[in-house]
Amino acid sequence: MRPLRRVSLFQVMAVGRRVSHCAVEGYGWTSGFHEFILIRMSQSNIENVIIIGSGPAGYTAAIYTSRALLKPLMFEGEEAGGQLMITTEVENFPGFPEGVTGPELMEHMRKQAERFGTRFQRKNVTKVDLKQRPFKVWVGDTMYLTKTVIIATGAKAKYLGLPSEKTFANKGVSACATCDGAFFRDMDVAVIGGGDTAMEEATFLTRFAKKVFIIHRRDSFRASKIMADKALKNPKIEVLWNTVVDEVIGDKFVTGAKITNTVTGEKKTLPIQGFFLAIGHEPNTKVLEGQLKTDETGYLVTKPHSSKTDIEGVFACGDVQDHHYRQAITAAGSGCMAAIDAERWLEANPS
Ligand code: NDP
Repeated sequence: MRPLRRVSLFQVMAVGRRVSHCAVEGYGWTSGFHEFILIRMSQSNIENVIIIGSGPAGYTAAIYTSRALLKPLMFEGEEAGGQLMITTEVENFPGFPEGVTGPELMEHMRKQAERFGTRFQRKNVTKVDLKQRPFKVWVGDTMYLTKTVIIATGAKAKYLGLPSEKTFANKGVSACATCDGAFFRDMDVAVIGGGDTAMEEATFLTRFAKKVFIIHRRDSFRASKIMADKALKNPKIEVLWNTVVDEVIGDKFVTGAKITNTVTGEKKTLPIQGFFLAIGHEPNTKVLEGQLKTDETGYLVTKPHSSKTDIEGVFACGDVQDHHYRQAITAAGSGCMAAIDAERWLEANPS
């Protein structure tokens, strides 16, 4: 390892480890091809707020932090907009009496954040280091420094992995009964899963659907007894135990599901128009590499009535910290909370 020496921006760039917005002056040493560069930075080169993840939580955090003149930098991800980008009609977001499509809603939110000075990068964050402040955020080889981080990376619904699920996404296949249930008035639908979500979604769907089948792969539910009992007592719900789905079928929209009874081996086609996945969600926390406290199901833990994580200056909002409500409007609300918490934290910690 060569001794510590002064390096210029050009040299920093040349070793292949770029440090954005910053390399005013610095010191570094080399060890073979992988150089480790220690940059002494001027405060003006450290971001106030980096928002990781787009979607209603991230965009709302961006609107609020940019209106607070914090000039947030948002990493939207390569597929910006989150889960709403795969949602056609949104009828329950306040302010849109005629409804709005998910992508339109995200575009509105993005434009609103842009209007107040949010800077966007349509890139995936690849690594973060939250061990000390300023926090470090990487996109590939480029490193960003920031005083606060707002995590709004969301969660994704689990799917069975059938190609036909993709074919009929938004054409009868959904992973959110609260969002899409009302489109299935007087129709027959199926909910896949045996946990609390499946019970809750099946019960909710009985408000609209003529009949709701719960398709479960085992002979007993994982769901809490109280929620299972409520579903089982509902006359509109029929449970297909020990049953797996082989394929979703349809033409333009879903018309049925091919299912197999795993005990008898009997195969049949169940005529349904709606196919609701309720086999769990997965919070998008991989990039955090276990640096923040999570609950037993992997969701980030925030302090009660706030967006504060267990690391000061790091805030979380939206579905990555909420497996209970999972709505665009609650995500947006928590994005607002994260922005206000970050703003207040910066005020209290000015250096
Ligand atoms: P869970 O992990 O609890 O349940 C998932 C269900 O899907 C299980 O029954 C599982 O079957 C089934 N499943 C998983 N993978 C497959 C697959 N590949 N094929 C077929 N079936 C599959 O997830 P939930 O979303 O239901 O709940 C997550 C957490 O949120 C839980 O802690 C739950 O209690 C909580 N929750 C609480 C609510 C409330 O209190 N109001 C409402 C909703 C959720 P198997 O049982 O065989 O493993």
